[in-house]
Amino acid sequence: MKTFPEFPNLFVVNHPLVQDKLSRMREKTCPTADFRVLLQKISMLMAYNVTEDMAMTTRQIVTPLIEMDAPTLAERDPVIVPILRAGLGLVDGLLTVFPDAIIAHVGLYRDEATHQPHEYLVRMPNPIPDDRRFIIVDPMLATGNSAVHAIDVLIARGVSKDKISLMTLVAAPEGVKTVHAKHPTAKIFTASLDSHLNEHAYIVPGLGDAGDRIFGTI
Ligand code: URA
Repeated sequence: MKTFPEFPNLFVVNHPLVQDKLSRMREKTCPTADFRVLLQKISMLMAYNVTEDMAMTTRQIVTPLIEMDAPTLAERDPVIVPILRAGLGLVDGLLTVFPDAIIAHVGLYRDEATHQPHEYLVRMPNPIPDDRRFIIVDPMLATGNSAVHAIDVLIARGVSKDKISLMTLVAAPEGVKTVHAKHPTAKIFTASLDSHLNEHAYIVPGLGDAGDRIFGTI
């Protein structure tokens, strides 16, 4: 993973398999069906990096030859928190790795004038489990306002800050700075740190509107 001294909470998954898929998704000619499959595969591959610090223990097992203390996960599958609607595109890939994950939802829409998020739905497990981490997923980290809002939602419901991370496909430096300023403990995993936001708060070079490209509403 690539790290940057100026963004201590940012981890760029620069594995060739991820990078090649992202380039194919960026192309404006990439059909919706391919876009979905590529996104699913990238999220599955990124799961490896996003969870590489999962707590481990050992348990005694018997191989055909001998007893051994075998490495075993001490943590349950995560709570995946897609920010609706584009975040849904990252869920299926994570579920292939974590079939017992809980899926919570945060529904936000972006005010096109102010670029501020407005909440219309929150569904969280009740009670909040303390043996699972929470991974907020959204393909685009643009202004960072939606990510900050989603983290605020989790903290307000009692999720401990050290259990929250963010997984995105493409991040803008502006968004990374905003999340870091408000929630410095939240690790951000992304496949790319792009150049900047344009005047409409779209990521450049980016891939356009991720929700439209996933759901075919272009
Ligand atoms: N949301 C998107 O879908 N794309 C961007 O570039 C920025 C926000």
